[in-house]
Amino acid sequence: MSPEALVQPVSLQPTAQHQASTEAEQFDAHVMTTYARFPVVLERGEGCRVWDTEGREYLDFVAGIATCALGHAHPALIDAVSQQMRKLHHVSNLYYIPEQGQLAQWLVEHSCADRAFFCNSGAEANEAAIKLARKYAHIQRGISEPVIITALASFHGRTLATITATGQPKYQKNFDPLMPGFHYVPYNDLAALEAAVEALEGRVCAILLEALQGEGGVRPGDRAYFQRIRELCNEKGILLILDEVQVGMGRSGKLWGYENLGIEPDIFTSAKALGGGVPIGAMLCKEFCNVFGPGDHASTFGGNPLACAAGLCVAQTLVSDGLIENAAERGAQLQAGLNELVSRFPNLLDHARGWGLIQGLVLKEDNGLTAPALVKTALEQGLLLVPAGPKVVRFVPPLIVTAEEIDRALTIVAEALTAIV
Ligand SMILES: *Cc1c(COP(=O)(O)O)cnc(C)c1O
Repeated sequence: MSPEALVQPVSLQPTAQHQASTEAEQFDAHVMTTYARFPVVLERGEGCRVWDTEGREYLDFVAGIATCALGHAHPALIDAVSQQMRKLHHVSNLYYIPEQGQLAQWLVEHSCADRAFFCNSGAEANEAAIKLARKYAHIQRGISEPVIITALASFHGRTLATITATGQPKYQKNFDPLMPGFHYVPYNDLAALEAAVEALEGRVCAILLEALQGEGGVRPGDRAYFQRIRELCNEKGILLILDEVQVGMGRSGKLWGYENLGIEPDIFTSAKALGGGVPIGAMLCKEFCNVFGPGDHASTFGGNPLACAAGLCVAQTLVSDGLIENAAERGAQLQAGLNELVSRFPNLLDHARGWGLIQGLVLKEDNGLTAPALVKTALEQGLLLVPAGPKVVRFVPPLIVTAEEIDRALTIVAEALTAIV
């Protein structure tokens, strides 16, 4: 393709429909098919709404898959990123980056952690946590072949180490050999975890879990389970790592998912909402396990001024605009509304579960309705949703969502269910 063709301006009218299908064809001819895509080209957003190239409006309850905490085109994020762009957008970590220091300070002051390392994504944040836990095992505990226990139905990313950590065969198939040093247990099952720690005889260096399993079906962690794990880790010198990539930064109605469990992890990771849609990830830890030294870990883009300016803006806006409280209140409204739908459509729906603004609508096992089918029907009726497995529909709207928008989304889901019945 000629360079001119790449910079052709996209004209929307009067042939927008034709344009959308042309764009999809052009896309499919050049981009790897790693996603099954809806035939929709989104081109503009504002708040909790997005518009496609055909001018159709959607209520966005996917929010870039839980990234766009401030919604779309938020004035504060626009200002923060454009001002930083004019000043200095990227320098190497060979030099001090004040915005990175400020974001690290904010995160440390607002969590149980003492230190932060920055990268660009959730998978990378988990990679950093895995490396830190392994180094800690080698130098502090003298474990030569450390094992990290993770949960079945978990999700930790798509790199080789993180697909290995992810306890779902569908993400691992055809990519073996996987990484050594991982062991899986069923989530929220204390007896299974205690048995695994026992069986691995002192080789367990860390337990890595999501506070609430997101991709694996919006399954909240059980408080008693996590409290006993915390005790077990203290007894045995095992590091407790929580993957907060999806629930962290206010989505659960608390700043961090672990606050819902009444425990503190030794290490935790953040990404998705941290930059409000600008790519950034972070791995945070307590001082006692801060065993990285110069040269141990690095990232070219990690913690650059642009990403950190975005992160700082998200952090400050969460606080100044009361978005964590909003997530709790709107989340309660959403869950109550979903439960009402469960009683209205008992043949299709089983129950609703989640924390704050990460809610899962669980479909009945014994009927033909699948999460992708309901998501497709909702999309046709103007609501963006995303499955979390074959039988759970996930609701992760921006944290700025209003009561009216929650009501509107619930109305659309009811209409979609009525259309399906
Ligand atoms: C999305 C997600 C990841 C992976 O994040 P990427 O930015 O896609 O690498 C890891 N853990 C959890 C819990 C996630 O939801």
